[in-house]
Amino acid sequence: MNTEAAAYFSRELLGWYRENKRILPWRMNRDPYRIWVSEVMLQQTRVDTVIPYYERFMEKFPTAAALAEAPEEEVLKAWEGLGYYSRARNLQAGASEVLERHGGVVPDNKDAVSSLRGVGPYTAGAIMSIAFNRPEPAVDGNVMRVLSRFFCLEDDIAKPSTRVKIEKLAQSLIPEGAAGDFNQALMELGALVCTPKSPGCLTCPVMAHCEGRMAGKEHVLPIKTKAKPPRPETRLAALIVGSGEHAGKVLVRQRQSSGLLARMWELPHVMGPTEPFGSAARSKGRGRRKSIAAAGTEVSGESLLTADSTAAAAEGTEPPFLQTTQQQGIAPGGGGLVAGGAGTIGADADRQTAHAAHVDMLCRELFAQDGLLVRPTGWWGEAEHVFSHIVWDVQVYRAEFGYWLAEESALEKPDYGGSAVNGDSQLAAESGVSYETGNAEEGAATPPQYRWIGLEQMRELAFPNVFLRLLRDYWETADGFTD
Ligand code: SF4
Repeated sequence: MNTEAAAYFSRELLGWYRENKRILPWRMNRDPYRIWVSEVMLQQTRVDTVIPYYERFMEKFPTAAALAEAPEEEVLKAWEGLGYYSRARNLQAGASEVLERHGGVVPDNKDAVSSLRGVGPYTAGAIMSIAFNRPEPAVDGNVMRVLSRFFCLEDDIAKPSTRVKIEKLAQSLIPEGAAGDFNQALMELGALVCTPKSPGCLTCPVMAHCEGRMAGKEHVLPIKTKAKPPRPETRLAALIVGSGEHAGKVLVRQRQSSGLLARMWELPHVMGPTEPFGSAARSKGRGRRKSIAAAGTEVSGESLLTADSTAAAAEGTEPPFLQTTQQQGIAPGGGGLVAGGAGTIGADADRQTAHAAHVDMLCRELFAQDGLLVRPTGWWGEAEHVFSHIVWDVQVYRAEFGYWLAEESALEKPDYGGSAVNGDSQLAAESGVSYETGNAEEGAATPPQYRWIGLEQMRELAFPNVFLRLLRDYWETADGFTD
């Protein structure tokens, strides 16, 4: 390494930062808890997005103890919309450790900080340097980019060995007594000037000795092998709209207590076919919600319900809910599964066939997984949700709570462990009972992880972004409360 260039880099960068740093809420003081929260929120998320979340979060949970003692549901709700919810859970678990082991005060000790739940080398370095001014590197993607360019490093930054090398380099650059400011200066330069796609070399405070720029490689560096693209998954969701005592409400489900999006709330949904469906839909635009008529995808009730159930009926295997739906017909105006039979399918026959298969799959899988019976009434819309490794194409079908034909059923009647459903031989599960008799107790006939909610309850529960958007869209529409 050219030591003169290194000294120049540290000196100029620090001077630039001290004159140009942004005023950000986590820079108000050096409280390690505040810095910790900000660093966790800023992972994978833009500063502008984080600011309002951060301010609300700090107001609600001003100390590690307040966060540790809060109900998880409240923490997730405060995080709702930021994504990567395991960050919030880990942060709360880390706060509990701080409370138990360190009396609620984040310790000035690198090993102790590094051992906290969810705290990796970057976050530990950021806390130690910014809060305690310890000469620890804090190397994230921004920093790797800046240093790769300035020192013209051609190592693959996707490799752990490169990270280790750059951490050593970053540590060696920290000026005496200025670790916090220097690390923030590096991050700031990466965020504002040495940006991924268009580095602003002409306004860069370290341009004069930037080896990457002098080699004409500022647009090529850093070298990074491409990660695999996220795997597409079709998800079939049911927007189950209540009637009777549940009028104006929607049935939602809480996810399991571990794994992806643990304990968050969602529309009930199942894995769809492996054949991508959304690509066709997306070629028409990425709207979150499309009216079926407007999107030119009006679905015939007949086609929707007969594609699979006719074949199943021939084999005598159709589930009772599909029989019931066919027998009772689809209510006109119920959301799009109407309009006159097979003749209305029109040019988009493939899409119609896909809808039919989806509905069949949705009914069967929701019953198989949760014992939930649904009666689809139409395609409602779609949304996309991108995780780091998968991308969900969520196809939403509007539905009513399903009818249950006890005498005709070859399947076991669902037992949700609640109080008895009316003993009528032609029963429905909850909505059927309430439609017929109005005497079902609230929640008695839904599986325990399900809940009927209105707009008010939605504000109390934490939803992943995709379902938050869909539900907001539902309630924002004129018919949201009229079903
Ligand atoms: S001169 Fe250009 S490439 Fe070099 S550090 Fe500055 S912005 Fe980045």
